Amino acid sequence: MGRALLFMITTLLPALSAGIPLSCQRGTIVVQDDVLDYGPLLDKTPVVRVLLINDKREAQLAISGCYQITGSLMNIIEQGQGLQKCTIAASDGGIILGNKRYNNSELRITSQQDGGIELNNVRYRGEIRILQQFNNKFSVIEEINLEDFIAGVLGSEMPPSWNEDALRAQAVTARTYAMYKKKMRRDDVYHLDMLELAYKGVAGETARLSKIVRETKGVVMVFNWNIFPAYFHSTCGGHTEDVNHVFGKNSIPPLGGVTCNYCNNSKHSSWSIDIRKAEIEKKLREANVYVSNISAVKVINPGAGAHGSKVEITSASGRKEMNANDFRLLVGPNYLFSTAFDSRSNGKSITFSGKGWGHGVGLCQYGAQSMAQKGFPWTAILKHYYPKIELVRVY
Ligand SMILES: [Zn+2]
Repeated sequence: MGRALLFMITTLLPALSAGIPLSCQRGTIVVQDDVLDYGPLLDKTPVVRVLLINDKREAQLAISGCYQITGSLMNIIEQGQGLQKCTIAASDGGIILGNKRYNNSELRITSQQDGGIELNNVRYRGEIRILQQFNNKFSVIEEINLEDFIAGVLGSEMPPSWNEDALRAQAVTARTYAMYKKKMRRDDVYHLDMLELAYKGVAGETARLSKIVRETKGVVMVFNWNIFPAYFHSTCGGHTEDVNHVFGKNSIPPLGGVTCNYCNNSKHSSWSIDIRKAEIEKKLREANVYVSNISAVKVINPGAGAHGSKVEITSASGRKEMNANDFRLLVGPNYLFSTAFDSRSNGKSITFSGKGWGHGVGLCQYGAQSMAQKGFPWTAILKHYYPKIELVRVY
């Protein structure tokens, strides 16, 4: 057994699944399109738990096809054929679906019809779990096969008409990110929420995207045979950023930042926007950050991609520093596109002039599309944005 393979079996796999089929230890290493293929290292496609609704009092549910409702111990509570649209609610006594009350703290719903469960007008393929929470609230989690999940994510995270190699690179990136989260949150109620990966259930899927996901089935990126958080963003603006600089996490070569000469044609390659000072102050106040009469917002400690790790806000109350990415998310990531900006006070507004859209770490999506259009295969795109990775098929 090669040393690298031994490393993978001892460090990567326990994180991914409890089961290691013996066949992987006999497998011959085959390199196809830069993907290390030892045969299936996991015995089946992993299931991920995705938080769809968090701590709400009301949601709409409809079911097509033959369905079954079970409790947390998989005891059958109800079976039926189709369920008209009804309201989900919770009370101290249990969970309510329409006019029916169930004295359970959890309901698991499955439908024999693929994509037959509709929640707030979005159809889902997986098993839906409704979990009672405090104060008559509930949360909803979908348990779904990772490949089906990635097909739904792909259409939400990248324009479905984009070049196939850009989409393949995005599929592997999202799969790697999801498997990392599954590893880190293996004992938690859920692995992923919809703030981390955009996901519109079955609506995000198309035949073309499903084919692209199938072509990369089971392929993830590893560094030193460990899975890692494969961040990605829209447009870097010329250089991606070190993960340590943006998120304070340990820097590793795949997330250390690289030059990107490919995203110039993104309309967010460079931008300028006026944001009212009162608006910035209001957004910060909502997060318990109190400033008044802002006179300047300055990026401090810019990284190789010019994204700041902190911003300094000068106001009547003095100077205050805060995490740059937190500042961007608070002000509004769809207004303040990145933390790679210069700014100047402009009467009642601050004029921000910057480059890129997103946090700047990992894959630059517009760069990936441009590389694909220039003829780079998805494997080369990933190896450019995540240096020193290996691509490996794990199932
Ligand atoms: Zn870029």
